[in-house]
Amino acid sequence: MASAPLRSCIGCRTVRPKAELVRVHAAQGGVVAVDLDGGPGRGAYLCPRRACVEQAVRRGEFSRHLKVALTSPGVDALQELIQERASRKVVSLLGLARRARKVVSGSGAVESAVKRHSARLVLIAADASSRSVGTIRALTARSGIACHTRLAKEELGAAVGGAPRSCVAVIDPHVAAAVLSVLAKIPAETEAGGSPRVEAIDPTSRAAPRRFGGDPAWE
Ligand SMILES: [Zn+2]
Repeated sequence: MASAPLRSCIGCRTVRPKAELVRVHAAQGGVVAVDLDGGPGRGAYLCPRRACVEQAVRRGEFSRHLKVALTSPGVDALQELIQERASRKVVSLLGLARRARKVVSGSGAVESAVKRHSARLVLIAADASSRSVGTIRALTARSGIACHTRLAKEELGAAVGGAPRSCVAVIDPHVAAAVLSVLAKIPAETEAGGSPRVEAIDPTSRAAPRRFGGDPAWE
């Protein structure tokens, strides 16, 4: 693999692969905007850690790096903006996956996908009752399937085109990896870096079941 492009974080100044960092740019009206897909023009980069966001805000790094006078965003506002962008992107990835029949939803379908090991990533609604998703949570932990709690029932439902859902399973490893990389950009509270909400499991690392393997749509 060619070496990945590197950028340094404007908070902690650590150099990391660009793909692991959150890009910000100056939007019209002198405000800081967040890009999760990169973008044109001058950008600045942040680790997905709250501590880095705080450092950058405290030192006024945004104006300095983006070379324009900017209204310095508050830490919470910036954190919310990144979360909102990430949620929106996950919803759109799930929508695409649904059209390609790469997701299942509802506790019954998700539970059987987990038991069959066809689930590569399980998303549990943050507002789901523990009674409805307790078994699924335990099963994913036991089978080493990545499990994430971030979106609300309403958002999960809208993403897969229907009524609110307590859980969704992604059954394609490439879609699962794409969703996880977006979720990993949400600044974590931890000082140690990385996100405590995402288990460090690469959904593409296990051998894909034959029926999902080599699908050109997601290569
Ligand atoms: Zn940093």
